[in-house]
Amino acid sequence: MSEQLSTALVTGGSRGIGKAIAETLAKAGYQVYLTYVSKADEAEAVARNIVAAGGKACAFRLDVADAEAVAAFFKERIKDQVELDVLVNNAGITKDGLMLRMKDEDFDRVIQTNLRGAFVCVREAAKIMTRQRHGRIINISSVVGQMGNYASAKAGLIGLTKSAAKELAGRNVTVNAVAPGFVETDMTASLPDDVRAAYIDAIPLKRLGTPQDIADAVAFLASPGAGYITGQVIAVNGGMYC
Ligand code: NDP
Repeated sequence: MSEQLSTALVTGGSRGIGKAIAETLAKAGYQVYLTYVSKADEAEAVARNIVAAGGKACAFRLDVADAEAVAAFFKERIKDQVELDVLVNNAGITKDGLMLRMKDEDFDRVIQTNLRGAFVCVREAAKIMTRQRHGRIINISSVVGQMGNYASAKAGLIGLTKSAAKELAGRNVTVNAVAPGFVETDMTASLPDDVRAAYIDAIPLKRLGTPQDIADAVAFLASPGAGYITGQVIAVNGGMYC
């Protein structure tokens, strides 16, 4: 068995918000395990840069939509190998479209990745954290999950957060969600200029969020100062929905 290092697992840490979360938690002193599904080079580069800056990080391929692979990952890489202090369920995809035109397979894929993927990770992490009698789980939801906007999975993630918070509180495991507004990442890069301008107009702070804005909220929820917060949704959205 290797040395039991205090570890934060960040799903989808190769780009965007997950990358900023991985870097910020590494600076806070965690060994970071970050996962990716397709962009191995980008994930390896994130891990390498963390190590070059004096931190600890490893990148792993893990499709969170594959429940068996997630269970195997926790068994082989986490259980009895590291102390799992923090799980950040960040991996996500979008297939935005009008409900009347949405295909079943697109709906299912989003639910499988954004909601069931998070559920399976929570379940596997909870087995370890309840035994340790401490842990922090942070789910990345979305402002659309609060407002309603083709957002069944992100709204479901808020329900999952509240249920898991109640179930795990007795073992000193907190579960919270962060709900970003619109953030500058690959996910929003293809927005047409007029749509982007309309979003900015609707944001009281008059700018899109940065990945760091979200990572700072996650780092707070992982910190000792947030030990009495559970079952909450922290909106980080420039005042868009308050
Ligand atoms: P990006 O598209 O920039 O990055 C998505 C990340 O998720 C990548 O690391 C990607 O890996 C990973 N990923 C995608 N599918 C899977 C999968 N099946 N298994 C494991 N990892 C996967 O997204 P953002 O950084 O913008 O978003 C991160 C999270 O924040 C998402 O949950 C998103 O819904 C949420 N969010 C984003 C907002 C925004 O405006 N950007 C607003 C509100 C919420 P790879 O690089 O290998 O493809």
